[in-house]
Amino acid sequence: MNLVLMGLPGAGKGTQAEKIVEKYNIPHISTGDMFRTAIKDGTELGMQAKSFMDQGALVPDEVTIGIVRERLSKDDCKKGFLLDGFPRTVAQAEALENILTDLDRQINFVINIDVDKDILMERLTGRRICKSCGSTYHLVFNPPAKEDTCDRCGGELYQRADDNAETVQNRLDVNLKQTQPLLDFYGEKGYLQNINGQQDINKVFEDVDALLEGLAI
Ligand SMILES: [Zn+2]
Repeated sequence: MNLVLMGLPGAGKGTQAEKIVEKYNIPHISTGDMFRTAIKDGTELGMQAKSFMDQGALVPDEVTIGIVRERLSKDDCKKGFLLDGFPRTVAQAEALENILTDLDRQINFVINIDVDKDILMERLTGRRICKSCGSTYHLVFNPPAKEDTCDRCGGELYQRADDNAETVQNRLDVNLKQTQPLLDFYGEKGYLQNINGQQDINKVFEDVDALLEGLAI
């Protein structure tokens, strides 16, 4: 079960990742975790990555790809893996193909949790936080009883700068631009599976699960 998970911010990728690894008992491999492990283990590539990160620089592709190769070669990946946050570019996707070919394996599915941009905007801009006690609300999913007022303490609710429409719009646009070539690449290879992420979380997982059950025999 060799999987790549994709989805824009707010699509619910993290939730689905948790459910997949819990049910199918495969390692969840996120880029951040991979870097942290390589650094903690003190591997040569880990040390190289660390020196770039310490300078606030982007880790070059060859280092990242080397770390992915090391991680996917570990024993716990023999039964499969869920890659999350890698690849980010077509060049990285091509490198991943090479790694898997060397390991005599291939990707089964690239699962894309698909949600319309309008709905992502609604999800990502709806958060409100209480100025007094820090309780969080969401205008759609968890609205306060009285507008702009904290249910717990009566404090005033505000929107974080990160959550404002312009910032969120920019973040989504950058992500969309980066993601589309990858979706095209995996579509052409026949790996891409779009899952409707606009349904209830459990229904989304049912769809993912239906796809994966065929692999789990
Ligand atoms: Zn409050």
